[in-house]
Amino acid sequence: MANENKRDYYEVLGVKKDATDAEIKRAYRKLAAKYHPDVNHEPDAEQKFKEINEANEVLSDADKRARYDQFGFAGVDPNFNAAAGGAGGGNPFGGFGGFGDFGDLGDLFGSFFGGGRSTRRSANAPMRGEDVMARLDLTFEEAAFGTEKEISASRIENCDRCSGSGAEPGTSPATCLRCNGKGTIRVQQNIMGMVMQSESACPDCRGTGKVIQTPCTRCKGKGKVRRSFKTRVKVPAGIDDEQTLRVRGEGCSGANGGPSGDLLVTVSVRSHPIFTRQGQSIYCEMPISFTQAACGAEVEVPTLEGKVRYTINEGTQTGTTFRLKGKGIPYVNSKNRGDEFVTVVVETPVRLSREQKELLRKLEESGASNQPKRKKFFDKFK
Ligand SMILES: [Zn+2]
Ligand SMILES: [Zn+2]
Repeated sequence: MANENKRDYYEVLGVKKDATDAEIKRAYRKLAAKYHPDVNHEPDAEQKFKEINEANEVLSDADKRARYDQFGFAGVDPNFNAAAGGAGGGNPFGGFGGFGDFGDLGDLFGSFFGGGRSTRRSANAPMRGEDVMARLDLTFEEAAFGTEKEISASRIENCDRCSGSGAEPGTSPATCLRCNGKGTIRVQQNIMGMVMQSESACPDCRGTGKVIQTPCTRCKGKGKVRRSFKTRVKVPAGIDDEQTLRVRGEGCSGANGGPSGDLLVTVSVRSHPIFTRQGQSIYCEMPISFTQAACGAEVEVPTLEGKVRYTINEGTQTGTTFRLKGKGIPYVNSKNRGDEFVTVVVETPVRLSREQKELLRKLEESGASNQPKRKKFFDKFK
């Protein structure tokens, strides 16, 4: 495809740049009838007929026409970049379906062409404010059972002196003289040998169509000020370390009547002296004595809500884990809770007196069959 040699679509249809839809339709019908290969047998008739159809396809479609007006052939031909030798390689629109909300690519494209339509559209369009990030320290228990906390952060708000207009109270913004209040100016650029016509955001008014002659003294004409604020946040039971809470509407103020952004609060959960947490389960290791393990015992087990009694079976081995159902962390926005897992660790007695050692030796000598694991191991070892 030799885009360089392509004729301007308006030229093809013989209409002016500001032609109405009806004028375009009329011009197309007339030319299509004239160059239709059934009636016209000139050698280049078919080529012309194709050209006319292509021009009509773009100019009769409001969207395509707008893109063409702004970006030329690049705006309407998905193969344009590849064919023309690649403006940065690939198609900056990422296919045409998503043209309406091309986001970052739009900005990229916009700046490449010296500010595009997307810039103009956004200058006065309602825009959501940015989100504000904050962090919140919680104790292990606060995260487990929920709490309410005050958060301090800073955000951009509409200036209260000028109500966000940027103009000193008593004055009002004037219509931009450069663009006559349109917010855009037409620019021609020569890019890789092609003349590109595009509409660009007016640099004098940054696309707003208005200029502030007497800037507000508080915000220096920006209409926005950064201000610190405090807000109370409800922390749901069960939240975990590094999870983020979204508080709607507590972010930066929007522009042109757009909604405020959100406050995003990421929590840090402090560690607990006894418990560790994995998801909604909590874990702890509990030392028990050799005698408790051997004879069984009723012990007190720590939970997040105080001690509970638990009976350790006779002959419990070290490393045995038991589960306390529903004593873990609540699931967020649910009545269900995780479990607590307690691993018992049999503590070997230390610093025994001679007498105590004697007692233990006697116990051991009284029967090897009391230690089946040990017996089994040494049986294999022989
Ligand atoms: Zn102000
Ligand atoms: Zn302007």
